[in-house]
Amino acid sequence: MNHKAGFVNIIGNPNVGKSTLMNALVGQRLSIITSKAQTTRHRILGIVNDENHQIIFSDTPGVIRPAYKLQENMMDFVHGAFQDADIIIYMIETGEKGLKDDHLFQKLIQTQIPLMLLLNKIDTVEQEFVKNQIEYWSNLLPKAEIFPISALNKFNLDVVMSRIKEKLPLSPAYYDKDTLTDKSERFFVCETIREKILKYYKKEIPYSVEIEVEEFFDEDEILKIRAIINVARESQKGIIIGHRGHALKKIGTLARRDLETFFQKKIFLDLFVKVNKDWRDDSKQLKRFGYQN
Ligand code: GDP
Ligand code: MG
Repeated sequence: MNHKAGFVNIIGNPNVGKSTLMNALVGQRLSIITSKAQTTRHRILGIVNDENHQIIFSDTPGVIRPAYKLQENMMDFVHGAFQDADIIIYMIETGEKGLKDDHLFQKLIQTQIPLMLLLNKIDTVEQEFVKNQIEYWSNLLPKAEIFPISALNKFNLDVVMSRIKEKLPLSPAYYDKDTLTDKSERFFVCETIREKILKYYKKEIPYSVEIEVEEFFDEDEILKIRAIINVARESQKGIIIGHRGHALKKIGTLARRDLETFFQKKIFLDLFVKVNKDWRDDSKQLKRFGYQN
């Protein structure tokens, strides 16, 4: 077997550039992330697949829990990050001293897990400063491999990616590579709504709907999603909406809750019902919904 797979856990303070890094690394190759992924203790940010590799990037969700539990959660967070990672990425930004959380730092020093330290935002400082920083960090964390990068400008990310691939253990894929490929966050949104419809309505209704995500705006504080529930007939529209809109509202609430858990973010979910007459027999529509090539 020459297939490699593993979990790459990213830790670091807020705002150091973790999301930017993820977008750059995973990019177009972003693969979703099934609901099953949540059964691991980590939030999976993205999976990169190629023929011989599956890299599962994640961070931990503990950070958004209420403040009074903060102490406890810091421990969980630290513990979780080290539990099942094959590689730990510790991300810092230039100038950061990184000693704020001593417990985490002790863990980083002691861990046997391969450690990559990404020194981000080097585009904002002089080369000399970067050199000093590398020296500073290699003294603090001698075991870490240090990579100066700019996630924003995609500088040095190819080097990081190849090194991750080298360090991954030999393993079969953890998640189905076929079903994951080319799926997006939008796909996950559709599936979540569809799941609620399957549970909530009877008979042929669930098989007559197709969900489309029309808008997906990831803003800092909130994720705004507008989705259309396509139905095949006018009568189905009434059923989906329900008396005074109660049924649709229920679906929306249930789906929103799941999505908030999944994305770890506040969600604004706008649901519309649209009659797309006999879409199941319309090859153009089927193609649009991704059922045919
Ligand atoms: P996160 O909280 O760790 O996920 O950080 P984000 O990825 O959201 O980034 C926080 C801020 O830093 C954003 O404004 C990014 O545009 C910015 N940022 C991220 N990477 C870089 C970089 O390499 N250079 C510069 N100048 N800014 C960056
Ligand atoms: Mg982020």
